[in-house]
Amino acid sequence: MKHSDIILGAGLSGLGAARHLPGSVVYEAKDHPGGHVYSHQQGGIHYDEGAHICHAKDEAWKHELFASAGDVVHMTQSQVSNWWHGRWVTYPVQNHLRDLPADLRIRALTEIVAAQMKAPERPPAHYEEWCRNQYGDFLTERFYKEYTDKYWRTPMAEMDTDWLAGRLLPSQLERIIHGAIAPLDEKQSVFSSFYYPARGGFFSFFAKLYEGVDVRTGCRVAGVKLKDKTITFANGEKVRYDRCISTIPLNDLIRAIDAVPDAIRRDAETLRHTQLIGVNVVVGKPNLVPYHWFYVYDPDIEISRVKVLSNIIPDTLPAGTTVLQTEIFRRDDETFEVESLKRKAVQELSHMLGFDPDADVQAVHHVVVSHAYTIPTLGRQAAVDRIAGWLEGQGIVTAGLYGRWKYVWSDQAYAAGKEAALRLVGV
Ligand SMILES: Cc1cc2nc3c(=O)[nH]c(=O)nc-3n(C[C@H](O)[C@H](O)[C@H](O)COP(=O)(O)OP(=O)(O)OC[C@H]3O[C@@H](n4cnc5c(N)ncnc54)[C@H](O)[C@@H]3O)c2cc1C
Repeated sequence: MKHSDIILGAGLSGLGAARHLPGSVVYEAKDHPGGHVYSHQQGGIHYDEGAHICHAKDEAWKHELFASAGDVVHMTQSQVSNWWHGRWVTYPVQNHLRDLPADLRIRALTEIVAAQMKAPERPPAHYEEWCRNQYGDFLTERFYKEYTDKYWRTPMAEMDTDWLAGRLLPSQLERIIHGAIAPLDEKQSVFSSFYYPARGGFFSFFAKLYEGVDVRTGCRVAGVKLKDKTITFANGEKVRYDRCISTIPLNDLIRAIDAVPDAIRRDAETLRHTQLIGVNVVVGKPNLVPYHWFYVYDPDIEISRVKVLSNIIPDTLPAGTTVLQTEIFRRDDETFEVESLKRKAVQELSHMLGFDPDADVQAVHHVVVSHAYTIPTLGRQAAVDRIAGWLEGQGIVTAGLYGRWKYVWSDQAYAAGKEAALRLVGV
């Protein structure tokens, strides 16, 4: 029997699904495919939606990406730092306590050792407890709590711990003590080495993979009639489907469906995410900072993270410049004013990196990403399981970052879409 297969959303999970579901059609709200891995050309430079880099390990996957991108830069050792109250502290702070003043170093180390010596009575109930168990109170309060408020825009005690694997390293006492006394090589983190396209931004890795995939852009899902199996888009188009894979935000999908049980609607309304305001700045001075990217911990600075593009692909950017891609976050239920955040970001960068915010700045652009990170709030996974389970019962399989409301790297997003498609065709 011929099925009419549709996929909602043309990000990487939509791409992974489409490439394993021959004949399928992908419907995408924006005017371009790519979702979060899209790169925006502004003033002749490509900027990503947040600090994207490739640290995939699978050789076959890397081969596909490199064939798409052409020239690829390989950084064998990432240089990452933290800006903390006027000083640079190597990332992650717990492994480089020697960068702190002696009194704070002693305090941090003493508290980490004390925390590690205590055998916890039960698994941590939330992220704050996890942090205190791992790092003690000083680092939790002066680093992780302050950063969480800026980055996740959510109190640590309201966050789950299931997102930590692959992002935060559980503390290893020997390395911590080593890093408090002498320099420590940082080769453990998932992104200790990475790849990036020499031209065209992160999206260059994927652009060619979309060739041959039927993507209909400008099609924002507006209404879903479950009984008729029809979807109406905001542009007035309508489509009937037999099988559907959705990678669009779960809560938006639920809001678009005509008949949803109240409990599922309530679950969908509990899901939270951040928005990203990316401020992209070209400074007419070279080598302002040696890092590939850095985190900014100070609560009175809006910027959370800065990718220094000119330290990654210097040969393809204007000579004599430092090109900075900064990230500021807001929660989905917060409002913001873009122009004032842009001005503030330039001032903050000039203060941290030492340039004149008027005379030295050559260009300032911005990108607003309405959905940045899914926030791992407590109870989120159970709500997602109920929603996704109910949708599957209605013939809609969900996949990907917002389809499962859980952080995934780009390669995992693609694999999730592929897995959903293979499940549909019964492989
Ligand atoms: C700030 C940030 C930094 C990241 N950094 C890295 C990194 O360094 N390395 C890495 O490997 N990964 C990184 N990731 C993860 C990676 O980008 C994502 O996991 C991946 O791109 C998600 O793909 P997706 O298809 O699941 O979701 P998305 O990319 O969100 O795709 C969903 C698509 O659905 C569309 N859509 C939404 N609503 C509708 C609607 N109503 N109707 C139709 N279409 C709709 C969207 O426009 C979008 O194109 C990062 C993610 C973020 C947010």
